Amino acid sequence: MAYKLNEKLKKFTNYEVTDGEYRIRLDANESFIDPGIGLHNRIIDALSKVPLNRYPDDSCKELRKAFGTYYGVDPALVVAGNGSDELISLLIGSFMKKDEKIVTLTPDFSMYKVFADIFERECIEILKDEDLSISTDYLLEELKRINPQAIIFSNPSSPTGLVKKRSEIVKILENTDALVIVDEAYMDFSTESVLDLVEEFDNLIVLKTSSKALGCAAIRLGFAVSSREIVKVLNALRPPYNLNSVTQAIGCAIFSEPEFIKESVSRIIESRNYLYQGIKSLVNSKIEKIYESETNYIYIKTKFAKHIYEELCKRSILIRKFDNSLRITAGTISENDEVIKSVKEILDSLN
Ligand SMILES: *Cc1c(COP(=O)(O)O)cnc(C)c1O
Repeated sequence: MAYKLNEKLKKFTNYEVTDGEYRIRLDANESFIDPGIGLHNRIIDALSKVPLNRYPDDSCKELRKAFGTYYGVDPALVVAGNGSDELISLLIGSFMKKDEKIVTLTPDFSMYKVFADIFERECIEILKDEDLSISTDYLLEELKRINPQAIIFSNPSSPTGLVKKRSEIVKILENTDALVIVDEAYMDFSTESVLDLVEEFDNLIVLKTSSKALGCAAIRLGFAVSSREIVKVLNALRPPYNLNSVTQAIGCAIFSEPEFIKESVSRIIESRNYLYQGIKSLVNSKIEKIYESETNYIYIKTKFAKHIYEELCKRSILIRKFDNSLRITAGTISENDEVIKSVKEILDSLN
């Protein structure tokens, strides 16, 4: 007897997570801000009250209430998950049927396509323009032609950092019957959110995460916000007790400090601007372009992506590499200084 993996299973590889020790890690768009002693004590206090022998609160009542208060949405329209990844998996896997099509934009967050492949959904990628934006009219034409069940994209976009205006998202919502899933993982750094429109449009789902602006990538916490009808379905589809009590407790503690979150966001934006200016001053024949960013990272186009990436690795600095482009998370000022200085040296040594 011999068990054989089928062809489908053989083609999957781990999501590109780089292990190993690096002095400076600017690869995963985490926040560089430590919660600080005040919030830390609040978290310890909340954790000490978690009844470990009991299942978590299945409905995440307190957490959804805290999220709703912070973002100004009705908690009844919120579902919590193990990072937005669990919710993306749920939407593409369980919410959609086998023969339904989903549209993604390219480039965008790679996990959309990965989940579509895992669940054997037909995934149609629409290429963005040369400047990495996409016109709403063109997108709507394509949606009409393809007639998908759903479209999913990040706004602001990962990896480009570009944002689509809220009015453009509204135009999409108004002109398609497809479910429009807007992943607002980085919207805390921008101002074009459509979170407040989930009751107005029955085809809108907004995804949020605690991993970026909230500085809590460790706890795996994400949210889907949508109409009552869709939320009811998502609750029926998700596993019971999907969100553990520890994550719920820490999530509540974070939202109880709105000033901390707001201050973190402005510090991160300041850091991103600093990094942006530093790398922008290096734009020349080797670094072709740096994109305007409304996120906590910068994205640059360069034919020397692989070389710069590898040379930074040698200096124990980790960033994210794509084909002919690099993404660098905004870090502390000293981390940013070191990256800017290193990139300059690496470019100079190419001459
Ligand atoms: C980081 C990121 C996520 C993942 O969020 P988790 O809540 O950590 O799973 C989702 N979407 C985009 C666009 C991201 O960059």
